[in-house]
Amino acid sequence: MVNSSRKRLVIGNWKMHGDSAFNSQLLAGLRTGIAQVQHCDVAVCVPFPYLYQTQSLLEGSGVSWGAQDVSQHEKGAYTGETAASMLADFACRWVLVGHSERRTYHGETDAVVAAKAAAALGAGLTPVVCVGETLQEQEAGQTQAVIDRQLAPVLALGAEALNRLVIAYEPVWAIGTGRSATPEQAQEVHAFIRSRLEAAGAGAVRVLYGGSVKGSNAASLFAMPDIDGALVGGASLVASEFLSIAAA
Ligand code: PEP
Repeated sequence: MVNSSRKRLVIGNWKMHGDSAFNSQLLAGLRTGIAQVQHCDVAVCVPFPYLYQTQSLLEGSGVSWGAQDVSQHEKGAYTGETAASMLADFACRWVLVGHSERRTYHGETDAVVAAKAAAALGAGLTPVVCVGETLQEQEAGQTQAVIDRQLAPVLALGAEALNRLVIAYEPVWAIGTGRSATPEQAQEVHAFIRSRLEAAGAGAVRVLYGGSVKGSNAASLFAMPDIDGALVGGASLVASEFLSIAAA
């Protein structure tokens, strides 16, 4: 389906990078450089301790912000966790859920990821639900089966919820490896995800691609009809590179 009605979205995932001095330069660069970007929503998902700094430096800039994870619980005795309402308190608009690094290193299941998405929606945030297959799964021809399994509990949240979230397709083999999926490879999976969303009454949901996106490959990825933008890791740590992706 042609994506004329879906506004592009580019989100930076800083992962566990940054400190006050570095962030302040990066955020200032985004604040100034965002003027060159049109027709695209731009956001950064930063480590929890820097949410206040990010809010202070980006407020009113046109660049929105969010976090990289959220608790599935509303509040209570969950030491070390961060509630969606706390993210909303720092005016977060977005939160990543189910990033492959959370699934791999923290054992997040598909059900937990869907519960986190529901918690985020409950606090008025937009969850960016990450899905994607490993290299081994891709080579075994299991990409669609893996995506189906990961999406199932999210689709079960229903059309009203689905229409308020974003999906990010991130093949694990392309994250941080410098080896992006080709536009055609990504489009094939995006079209598949779109068909599942359409069947669930949410065909207009934005589906981002993530995995080694840079200024040099963004335009060819964004030319694909079902790719609505990008989730960007490494390249989001350099303001000019990140903004060149958003401008692509
Ligand atoms: C990511 O962390 O979501 C990601 C896509 O990383 P990179 O752009 O560095 O591959």
